[in-house]
Amino acid sequence: MLEKDNDLAFKHDSTPRNIPLSDHGLQPRQFSQAALSIVEKLQSLGYEACIVGGCIRDLLLGRTPKDFDVATNATPEQIKDAFGNARLIGRRFRLAHVRFGREVIEVATYRGESPSDAANPSDGTSAVRELDGGRLVRDNVYGTESEDAIRRDFTINALMYDPSTETLKDHVGGYEDLKTRTLRLIGDPETRYREDPVRLLRAVRFMTKLELSPDKATEAPIRPMAPLLQDIPPARLFDEILKLFLSGHAWSTYQALVAFDLWEQLFPNLLQDPSAPPMIVKQGLKNTDARVAADQPVTPGFLFAVFLWHRVETRAEALSGKGLPPVNALGQAGDEILYEQAQTVAIHRRFSSMAREIWCMQPRFLKQSQRRGERMIQERRFRAAYDFLLLRALEEPALQPVADWWTELQKTAPPPAPSRPHSGPKRRRPRRRRRRNDARAQAR
Ligand code: ATP
Ligand code: MG
Repeated sequence: MLEKDNDLAFKHDSTPRNIPLSDHGLQPRQFSQAALSIVEKLQSLGYEACIVGGCIRDLLLGRTPKDFDVATNATPEQIKDAFGNARLIGRRFRLAHVRFGREVIEVATYRGESPSDAANPSDGTSAVRELDGGRLVRDNVYGTESEDAIRRDFTINALMYDPSTETLKDHVGGYEDLKTRTLRLIGDPETRYREDPVRLLRAVRFMTKLELSPDKATEAPIRPMAPLLQDIPPARLFDEILKLFLSGHAWSTYQALVAFDLWEQLFPNLLQDPSAPPMIVKQGLKNTDARVAADQPVTPGFLFAVFLWHRVETRAEALSGKGLPPVNALGQAGDEILYEQAQTVAIHRRFSSMAREIWCMQPRFLKQSQRRGERMIQERRFRAAYDFLLLRALEEPALQPVADWWTELQKTAPPPAPSRPHSGPKRRRPRRRRRRNDARAQAR
């Protein structure tokens, strides 16, 4: 059912504004060769096809796109016929992954979308959501090029590039918005946020990461509508959290989330005063950004360890008071707090175990014996737990000498042994690997 106040978003088949190469300046070599070849092949078979979405936005902003997506009027089956190696994914809205050399390009059929369909995000992965009144979202329907542009979230994300004419097609004014660095939802903002509240988080992410100013109507509903995030499945929120905090702008994103009352929806009652976060959180986020900038690996396990630490510590102190040894108290407190947090944001097991291991190593740092220390350095989580200790020392000056002792020890101790995946007769690795494959096969 179309919303009355959302006319703009659902007037289909608008004629796009065509922006020629002389204006947009994007050169074919800036695009992924794989995406260009896929579009060319689809067009040669008589289909419409274009490169679309975030990659065009990023190129126009002078950034390197993470990935290149293709949209077409060919159905998933027709895409599969065109590309022998295409793999169809997604249960409700199917799209194709087409492998081209080492790249995998997502090829999606144009979608027409009513407000009730939009709860299923464009990537077709998840988020089947029950809307108000218990109405289930309808299955997605295929659409035209302009419908596909209009159902996207922000105007800057709806630009389409046709390599055969080297033209950009703009159905929603995204090109002008990019020039003026404006973030604007397509259609009526309240309706679009209500359709899919994850757009509230996406708005903050794009504002911060791309340094865009939100248009007033796009910004105004964010704070009052923040509680709508409570309807979003924890697994989908986890995916968004990775994008929010591991893309190199964690600290500014954190501040924006707090300012828009969104942080509290993701991590309810976690920090006493989120607008003045503990040092471990502030510096933990800044260190994450520095690592991303230096191309070093970052893991959500460490970040969750940082976010939840003070809650875990308080709970562990209570348990220690009842006689539990410190490591056990931290383990049990960690389990409880992780369980509580998982009610809002699902945390994959490998990340929750990492957080737990980091916490449980903390009391062991207090025992400074050379022999024991050298063994500890060999442990898998040592480095992460040590980095965590350095952060704690910023808040607890008494820990600084402890941290220094471990810093010195690492200079003299033998370096950690490289992992030996195939040594020893009792290795369980092959079994684990088999189980993972099974899980993947079931998910298909
Ligand atoms: P990023 O650089 O973070 O990947 P992106 O814009 O490419 O940003 P994706 O999540 O990869 O984001 O989505 C690809 C495209 O799908 C977007 O550019 C947008 O056009 C559309 N899209 C994604 N999520 C939504 C949503 N919740 N509602 C409407 N359209 C969406
Ligand atoms: Mg993307």
